[in-house]
Amino acid sequence: MSDYGLRGQRALVTGGASGIGRGIVEALAAHGVDVVLTYLSSDAGARETVAVAQSHGVKAYALQADLTDEAAVNHVVSETQRLLGGIDILVANAGGILGRIGTLDLTREIWDNAFALNVTSTFLCCKAVIPGMMTQGSGNIVLMSSQAAFDGGGVGSAYYAATKGAILTYSRGLAKELAPHHIRVNCVAPGLIDTRFHDINTPPDMRAAVRGRIPLGREGTPTDVAGAVIYLTSELGAYLTGETIIINGGQTMY
Ligand code: NAD
Repeated sequence: MSDYGLRGQRALVTGGASGIGRGIVEALAAHGVDVVLTYLSSDAGARETVAVAQSHGVKAYALQADLTDEAAVNHVVSETQRLLGGIDILVANAGGILGRIGTLDLTREIWDNAFALNVTSTFLCCKAVIPGMMTQGSGNIVLMSSQAAFDGGGVGSAYYAATKGAILTYSRGLAKELAPHHIRVNCVAPGLIDTRFHDINTPPDMRAAVRGRIPLGREGTPTDVAGAVIYLTSELGAYLTGETIIINGGQTMY
């Protein structure tokens, strides 16, 4: 397999012990990238993912961190730089929905927590890795948006959609800010991807109804999203910045 110029690069993937993040870690490792993944609580998932990554002959480590905590983010970034010698790629994947809750039942606390989890953690990770990338004169950042950023999300997820819209817009502004430093910033926006996100948060009938509207006739997989990340971070995507790739089996065609 061609490594598309990725071999020997060094990546930090947040939320890399499960679901989409795990798929991204495994794909980067398969292309010869040394990886540090972060996880919140899944020690077993972190150990398993590190073992799979190492089986590709790359360095792989896991760090536990709550990425809503600025000190924890800064520690993760400095540890990653120490373990790998630098950071060429950041995939800010960690995040999620805090239940399906309509606006009238949504508390200010849940709104704030959702923005902290998805938007603030993304900003903190970017802020912490950018100085090293500027010094290197190169870097690649991929942020995790969602189809919800385009269509407002399913029932009870307007607040979640708002966080993913903020991430998408931030990626475009950041792309302009960092282009003079040869740092590319892009987004991925998945639709229905088969992970615990939906196992926990999406009722089976709602999930089946969404699945029924997918032109390609199936739910996406973490590997489907990882393919877009390989494209964006490798030499294949060398002329892309400020771009968002929607990965949803054709549900929306903008
Ligand atoms: P997941 O639950 O497997 O992954 C979420 C990850 O975020 C976990 O690894 C978790 O440890 C991490 N995380 C949660 N809170 C954290 C915190 N405070 N600090 C650090 N890490 C934290 O689900 P997933 O589907 O793989 O989700 C990954 C990303 O993809 C999320 O940002 C999610 O919003 C986004 N997304 C998922 C889908 C989907 O259909 N599954 C669609 C669009 C976007």
